[in-house]
Amino acid sequence: MLSETAIKEFGESLRGGIVKPGDSNYDESRKIWNAMIDRKPALIVQVTNADDVSSAMIFAVANKLDITVRGAGHNIAGNCICDGGLMIDFSLMKKTRVDVENKIAYVEPGATLKDFDAEVQKHGLATPVGINSTTGIAGLTLGGGFGWLTRKYGFTIDNLLSAEVVTVDGKKLKASENENSDLFWAIRGGGGNFGVVTQFEFKLYPVGPEILAGLLVFPFKEAKSILQQYRDLIQTTTPEFNVWVVLRKAPPLPFLPEEVHGKEVVVLAICVVSDFDKGEKQIEKLRGFGKPVGEFIGRMLYINWQQIFDPLLTPGARNYWKSHNFVDLNDGAMDSMIEYAGKLPSPQCEIFIAYLEGKSNSVPASAMAYSNRDLKYILNVHGRWDDAKQDKDCINWAREFFDATSKFASAGAYVNFMTEEENERVAKAYGPNYKKLVEIKKKYDPNNLLKHNQNIKPTA
Ligand SMILES: Cc1cc2nc3c(=O)[nH]c(=O)nc-3n(C[C@H](O)[C@H](O)[C@H](O)COP(=O)(O)OP(=O)(O)OC[C@H]3O[C@@H](n4cnc5c(N)ncnc54)[C@H](O)[C@@H]3O)c2cc1C
Repeated sequence: MLSETAIKEFGESLRGGIVKPGDSNYDESRKIWNAMIDRKPALIVQVTNADDVSSAMIFAVANKLDITVRGAGHNIAGNCICDGGLMIDFSLMKKTRVDVENKIAYVEPGATLKDFDAEVQKHGLATPVGINSTTGIAGLTLGGGFGWLTRKYGFTIDNLLSAEVVTVDGKKLKASENENSDLFWAIRGGGGNFGVVTQFEFKLYPVGPEILAGLLVFPFKEAKSILQQYRDLIQTTTPEFNVWVVLRKAPPLPFLPEEVHGKEVVVLAICVVSDFDKGEKQIEKLRGFGKPVGEFIGRMLYINWQQIFDPLLTPGARNYWKSHNFVDLNDGAMDSMIEYAGKLPSPQCEIFIAYLEGKSNSVPASAMAYSNRDLKYILNVHGRWDDAKQDKDCINWAREFFDATSKFASAGAYVNFMTEEENERVAKAYGPNYKKLVEIKKKYDPNNLLKHNQNIKPTA
């Protein structure tokens, strides 16, 4: 039990604030994106600078409280919060500062992708991040980070220049190629295992403000042929052009005829970052794949495209996800996708394929913690629903589909898409880099105080 006096003194030592059970904002402050997670920390420390983080770590250790760290609270596993622990909450640290001349952004860890994109796009700049704007930059970066710009510019971590980190003993360190380079190596993919990041420094590129993008929707009966033609075409394209595939029930979007609403469809999500004339020609080829039931394609602001999927991925639903890496997309994998897309247990469930071939494949697997440099596709199974009564059906559907496609998967896994129960997959996710990660964990967190994450144990 924490004494009121100890909490009060600790609170007074912070520039930020404390939220505790019974406070009017406690329930709101402990809410995270996945509604399946309902945990009650003993203290939520709303930090405003690295000193607050340092004090929070020292207080947690002195009072034997588990530490969790919340960027924007998006991670499916819900590791950013635990019952009875101390949550370091970055919701008051969301700033992005842009050095336009040198094309660099300095970003606080509470920023969402929307916060980040808004600032950098004021200058026509961007770096690869994810595709749902409410996702946090912190968790996304520390696990890897990929999105529409990944084919051209790599993963988010490939563009991380440095980070400021508070280690479990409360020390403030800089991690870069030149300073604490082992720590810098580890945080690029190794998640929140090594310390708490209080600032990220990213390299930026000219992007937009307009891109060519949109959705092309085909009837489900054409799925196999669309998938095969997609695979054959996408491999011939350059990294400025990208198409991802979603198999799901059609939402009632205005550009789709009413008769397909609620029916299974194949969606090609298209993003052309530059070279629009060439992109238009490729899109024309996509149209010829079959008989589209609707399309919504055109020039739009990059920043708007970055938010286009937000209405399908709002917070507050129940979620259970699984994911595989693929180096190719063979017919067997497609058959499984079509089979399971044909028995979606809720209208919000979907099967999703991202194509990532490009810059990332040229980075050596040993360059940083994230090692899956042969992957070309990430398959993501989004189990998503509203009613707890559907938990069993939706979770079983995702697990069975994951098992059915395991034999087609390549090495590694993306830790950012892992559920809480997948901790045994963590070592496999890092493959040849796991041993080195364990050594670095021993150095920076020998007692595994940062264990609420896709955990790398110092004793492994
Ligand atoms: C709807 C949705 C869409 C997504 N789309 C993509 C996508 O397109 N591309 C992609 O790559 N990923 C995507 N993801 C996965 C996403 O990258 C992870 O969920 C990520 O962990 C979210 O980061 P967060 O800061 O919001 O998470 P949080 O839940 O706040 O944090 C996750 C974990 O990160 C660690 N952490 C957070 N902040 C810090 C910090 N400052 N210092 C140290 N450790 C910290 C902690 O271990 C914490 O448990 C998506 C997830 C969702 C739910």
